[in-house]
Amino acid sequence: MFIDGKWRDAQNNAVFDVFNPATGEVLAQVPDGSDKDISLAIEAADRAFSSWSALTAYQRSHYLYTAWKIMLDKKEDLARIMTREQGKPIAAARNEVQYGADFLLWFAEEAKRVYGQTIPSARPDQRFIVLKQPVGVVGAITPWNYPVSMITRKLAPALAAGCTVVLKPAEATPLCAMEMFKIFEEAKIPSGVVNLVTTLDPKPVGAQFVSNPIIRKLTFTGSTRVGKMLAQEAAAHMKRISLELGGHAPFIVYDDADPVHAAKGAVLVKFLNTGQACISPNRIFVPRHMVDAFTKEFTLRVNAMKPGNGMDKDVRIGPLVGPDAVSKVENQVKDALEKGAHLITGGKRLTEGPLEKGYFYAPTVLTHVTKEMRIYREETFGPVAPIIAYDPDDDVIEMANDTVYGLAAYVYTKSTSRAMSAFERLKFGIIGINDINPTSAAAPFGGMKDSGMGREGSKEGINEYLETKLGGFSI
Ligand code: ADP
Repeated sequence: MFIDGKWRDAQNNAVFDVFNPATGEVLAQVPDGSDKDISLAIEAADRAFSSWSALTAYQRSHYLYTAWKIMLDKKEDLARIMTREQGKPIAAARNEVQYGADFLLWFAEEAKRVYGQTIPSARPDQRFIVLKQPVGVVGAITPWNYPVSMITRKLAPALAAGCTVVLKPAEATPLCAMEMFKIFEEAKIPSGVVNLVTTLDPKPVGAQFVSNPIIRKLTFTGSTRVGKMLAQEAAAHMKRISLELGGHAPFIVYDDADPVHAAKGAVLVKFLNTGQACISPNRIFVPRHMVDAFTKEFTLRVNAMKPGNGMDKDVRIGPLVGPDAVSKVENQVKDALEKGAHLITGGKRLTEGPLEKGYFYAPTVLTHVTKEMRIYREETFGPVAPIIAYDPDDDVIEMANDTVYGLAAYVYTKSTSRAMSAFERLKFGIIGINDINPTSAAAPFGGMKDSGMGREGSKEGINEYLETKLGGFSI
């Protein structure tokens, strides 16, 4: 763990194993932090806050810029660690490191653009000035599916704003977090400004983040279940929160879209990270008369994707994160098939040869998916593409909005008016119009409804770490 500028073991010397999900092998043992370690980290962040927040924006920017340069130098090392620890194909891991580094550069720049306001007063003897100030010490909790970029997406704006941070990464991917902290150390970010607590049991960290009065802000990316629980507890202590939670993205193909082009996009985004992404399509709506053409092209592409260890450069489908993830996918597919879905391809665990020791599930295509099936409502977080036929009389936007989630949605159409109408009517935070990658450090990322609150990236991302202070001056 990295606390107060030093690498440390857990106070009680406990450790836990980190596994490679493609091979089942133990990669490393890392400290299993507990309450005492979390308190030490929070206290270190508290001590560092006054001097870090007092630096000029230019000084903080310089640290982030330095970290960005180091991160790019280490791109290949980071990508390899990520593939071993998390399983995504090496090319996708390289993309993620680049995306992660983008946040350091973006917020190195935004640090210098934290503008206040002056506001005219109705009183001649009065002046209003609005100041933006850092919220204080931040507790950050990140998931395993994007183990590098979720760290920079939170830490870069926090540091830019003048906050200090305690990070708890997911228990499946502490090695990526440790590599990131080596970068922060090399960038000479002052002691206590960034602290890392690794632990197998996240509950005590969550409990301290929401209840310890030093922590003024909690930023969380993970499941809706845990996010809601933390939000509830944080409310009791009036902590600022931002939450990036689950999703159930619709992917709408209109009848004027080219089915081949749409199928190509749908496969690429559906199987990204083996479906383990909160922006992964979970319901693919296709006009009934186009289902056959779309499914044919889609399946052709799915069957061409090689599953296996992500270190093999030909592999396109990595393992799932663990046995529970495989069971969840299996159960959803079983439920769908029992209720009348048709299995076009996949539908089983992959256990042949070297895949036996990892957590592999075949990329799967289901058609005839209906509302009664669990997969229609529940996030899958796995490599299953449910295709749903719709009729000319159906309001497909209404069907797409019929979910508790509101993170990402995708639309394929050649019509500008349809595209605009869908863009305006869809109740989701991120809409891809003929576009499967509507994400960037420069663009706001976040969801509505049960997908969370707050935005990361863009000029909005830094606001999550700032307080607004008004000064009324009588002169
Ligand atoms: P997933 O299902 O994607 O693993 P989780 O919400 O369980 O989603 O995990 C996301 C992050 O939340 C991880 O860092 C995990 O350790 C953390 N987490 C899980 N349960 C809790 C909890 N009770 N309190 C705080 N953090 C938690």
